[in-house]
Amino acid sequence: MFRHRGKVREAQQEQDVYTCSGCGQVLFRAKYKFEVGSGFPSFWQQVGENVAHCPLDTYGRQRVQLLCSRCRQHLGHLFDDSRTPTGVRYCINATSITLDLEQPT
Ligand SMILES: [Zn+2]
Repeated sequence: MFRHRGKVREAQQEQDVYTCSGCGQVLFRAKYKFEVGSGFPSFWQQVGENVAHCPLDTYGRQRVQLLCSRCRQHLGHLFDDSRTPTGVRYCINATSITLDLEQPT
């Protein structure tokens, strides 16, 4: 019983996505989210090409700005992070994304 319930929960999380608060485009999946204690929602992988990377050189430090590929809203920044499977971390402003819980059909 519990095992079955667990599978159902996983299946729902599988479909949960974070969308752009500006235009509604899907940007990240809930299963790519993790906690780093920075206070910012963090992800280790994006959805398709929906997050645009814009290299910045501010104050002599290389940073990568993240934008929504559709409406160009500023989302946050990309950092190297050895703890993630992809080696990078998407550090996102909470106000720029919206959790979209897909309803079971
Ligand atoms: Zn957008």
